[in-house]
Amino acid sequence: MDFDGFFAEQLQTVRDEGRYRVFTEIERKRGAFPHATRYVNDGTQNVTVWCSNDYLGMGQHPVVLEAMHKTLDQCGAGAGGTRNISGTNHQHVLLEQELADLHGKEAALLFTSGYVSNWAGLGTLASKIPGCVVFSDALNHASMIEGIRHSRAEYKIWKHNDPEDLDRHLSAFPAGVPKLVAFESVYSMDGDIAPIAEILDVCEKHGAMTYIDEVHAVGLYGERGGGIAEREGLMDRITVIEGTLGKAFGVMGGYIAASADLVDFVRTFASGFIFSTALPPAVAAGACASIKHLKVSSKEREQQRDRVATVRRKLDMLGIPHLPNPSHIIPVMVGDAHKCKMISDWLMDNHGIYVQPINYPTVPVGTERLRLTPSPVHNDGDIDRLINALSDIWSQCELARGSVAA
Ligand code: PMP
Repeated sequence: MDFDGFFAEQLQTVRDEGRYRVFTEIERKRGAFPHATRYVNDGTQNVTVWCSNDYLGMGQHPVVLEAMHKTLDQCGAGAGGTRNISGTNHQHVLLEQELADLHGKEAALLFTSGYVSNWAGLGTLASKIPGCVVFSDALNHASMIEGIRHSRAEYKIWKHNDPEDLDRHLSAFPAGVPKLVAFESVYSMDGDIAPIAEILDVCEKHGAMTYIDEVHAVGLYGERGGGIAEREGLMDRITVIEGTLGKAFGVMGGYIAASADLVDFVRTFASGFIFSTALPPAVAAGACASIKHLKVSSKEREQQRDRVATVRRKLDMLGIPHLPNPSHIIPVMVGDAHKCKMISDWLMDNHGIYVQPINYPTVPVGTERLRLTPSPVHNDGDIDRLINALSDIWSQCELARGSVAA
């Protein structure tokens, strides 16, 4: 087989469909986020980043940087091993305690990313509980889907955010069958929020375990940043809460929080935990500082909400279509992969505004979009530049204006 020929052909198909991904290399300047520098052929360009998942700018926060510097100096670069073989540092233990406390659970377990925590956490529960059937929301993230598939457990997909459909699926199995229901709180591409209480009512009726991905909510919602489940007083009704340290907390890593026995079970059986090097202690210390800060400071959350409301209001005034959701994620709808990329390139080249186009398979064909994530660090000038530029390109391309149905 001509392997290279095969690869090139496959890639050409992706290019022809307008969804070939090119890296945009930018340098986040210390303290200046969301302002960054892009390296271009003939020099550098100052850009404002509008698509970062460092939702609160914590990746540049002095308390986080200080904790990381201090631990780096004390402990060195890497953890030196897996958690079981020489890689457990005091910083990991402190961070796990902090996370368990954040979610009101007995214990928590760290993984190297949110992706791995879903893949390994969900996958281990589904594969090691005999006869377990998994019920997965139709829009669950790839990491959950991969974990479920990898487990080889039987699974059913229920309609997105539809507790009645979930009820129908659960009712099709006898009471004695172990059931695990997996869903998210804030969905990353539409920014909609799950009806968690109703989902839990259904799960409790059927005696099902629940696994919620709060990756796009931790740090951002709830009085102490514990996520939507904290905001709605539901944490103690959920079996497993999963989150990331790489978005609102600004660092990297993932985790699950649950009962001590469940966490110990995953710790003991999850190959994605056992056979992988532990997070660097400095990373754990930075994440811990970030969580501690956001537990007591709501300033960043309030500023973010204010920035999000301002961007939405200005988009509305100009009739630039965006999904009306109740979260911090603003999907500006374009509906065509080529146009989406063209707008994104034009914003960058002409205005130093960086918004990555979101195409299939991340979102369905025909719903291509620009996903805006206003942060506390965007100022009024940044917002006006963004809105004016979007209005210009909307006129130039004669794109439809008006509101989008929820
Ligand atoms: N879950 C969801 C819903 C996500 O959107 C993501 C990342 N985009 C992850 C999990 C993975 O998290 P991480 O980036 O920490 O690997």
